[in-house]
Amino acid sequence: MQNFLDRQWAEVLTDLEDSVSAVGLDLWIRKIKPLNIENDKLYFLVPNEMTRDTILRAYSRQIIEGIYKHFKLESFDFVLEEDKERYIKEHDLLKGADSESLPQAVTNEEEPQNPFNPRYTFSNFVVGTTNKIIYAAARAAAEHPGTRFNPLFIYGGTGLGKTHLLHAIGNHIWDLNGGKLKLVYVSSETFANDLIETLRFGREKGTLEFRKKYRKADVLLVDDIQFISNKKAVQEEFFHTFNDLYQAGKQIIIASDRPPKEINDLEERLCSRFGSGLVQDIQKPDLETRAMIINKKIELEGYTFDSKVVSILAERLEKYNIREIEGVLNKLDLFAKLHGRFVVDEEVVNEVLSKSHELEVSVGRVISQDKILDAVCRKFNIKLDELLGKKRTKEFVEPRQISIYLMWKKLNIPLTAISKIFNRDHTTAIHARDKVIETMKEDESFKKMIEELEDMIAY
Ligand code: ADP
Ligand code: MG
Repeated sequence: MQNFLDRQWAEVLTDLEDSVSAVGLDLWIRKIKPLNIENDKLYFLVPNEMTRDTILRAYSRQIIEGIYKHFKLESFDFVLEEDKERYIKEHDLLKGADSESLPQAVTNEEEPQNPFNPRYTFSNFVVGTTNKIIYAAARAAAEHPGTRFNPLFIYGGTGLGKTHLLHAIGNHIWDLNGGKLKLVYVSSETFANDLIETLRFGREKGTLEFRKKYRKADVLLVDDIQFISNKKAVQEEFFHTFNDLYQAGKQIIIASDRPPKEINDLEERLCSRFGSGLVQDIQKPDLETRAMIINKKIELEGYTFDSKVVSILAERLEKYNIREIEGVLNKLDLFAKLHGRFVVDEEVVNEVLSKSHELEVSVGRVISQDKILDAVCRKFNIKLDELLGKKRTKEFVEPRQISIYLMWKKLNIPLTAISKIFNRDHTTAIHARDKVIETMKEDESFKKMIEELEDMIAY
């Protein structure tokens, strides 16, 4: 059961990346873990009451939609960390988990398992004017790996199908040769973490272990390569991996949220390697493609929609990416079920789309808090746990003070409450706010930076 829960929850989290800010995810939602399903309810383990309450107040709608889509469940509840042992004992969870994980581990050893998401195939991928070139290139790479379009570099905004295409290529190659070719699929973050992990064995041994894994690949698929920016050692290793595989005629496919030239601090030699095959973008679907996608999703999910609403939705969802479109369809279906309607018709669409607007406004405040933290992290290029952490060097103290100032100014939260978010006392928060106000008076460029941040968090 545990495996199933984790897998599905990972899918929910991916979806939530679009509807919840990165900080909201890291600060709250990633802190809970699915524990059990009981009486049609998903139970999460939650570290404390504050996390539980914040999630209930600010994110329950998004979570319900996510678990409906990936678990087909309509509600959830929490088990506090302090009650975990009792809960596990009462529900006999340990036994259940053992009996499922054991045989899995054994089969993994004997026979490689297809690591790709079975839903992300070429046949489930809707081809329209905005993605037909990249689709054709992906198919060619899958049919004749290593011979054409090598490397294949796919870029485009979030939720437009990059990961889907990488998996489709993987699935296709897997099906054709029954797992004989070695396919390695990673995100650049996993690649980086793997490298760091193996380097613990010492430089020489570590690098060797690492190379064993990556340079044996017949096809290397790297998702979200943009995270490689600013990581020198990782770029260095990736460069060598790339060259080895490339020279051996292996297929390399890379996905990114931007073209190679726009990846910050990307070494020139990597940038030109990335550009040496086909670099192709994938764009937001146009009206006609949106309608086809909506129809396809209805078919795949078994939704019951009135045929008239397809074109209405295709019109109304103009600004949406495909992951968001899936989210809306899921929401409509869920709403209809909960209200005893059998078909999603125009009335349901109108009701749901106007309601979600109201909800967005009421959770606005918590989300804005996250937005501020998110903007400051991005501006100073630091991580959230560094911003909220204990280190008192200037590189962290200043962003911290600025966040406190912005929350105080923009959100009308009392300084006592703000100080809690940063785990500090009230006087520190007062000092932080005053310091920022003073510096703004004295330093024109500092003031400008604060104004830029305010623009970043404005709705
Ligand atoms: P990205 O990696 O670009 O952020 P994903 O590949 O994760 O986006 O796609 C987001 C969702 O949209 C996935 O559920 C995917 O199946 C779906 N999707 C994207 N493009 C298409 C398409 N052309 N046809 C059908 N579904 C698509
Ligand atoms: Mg992706």
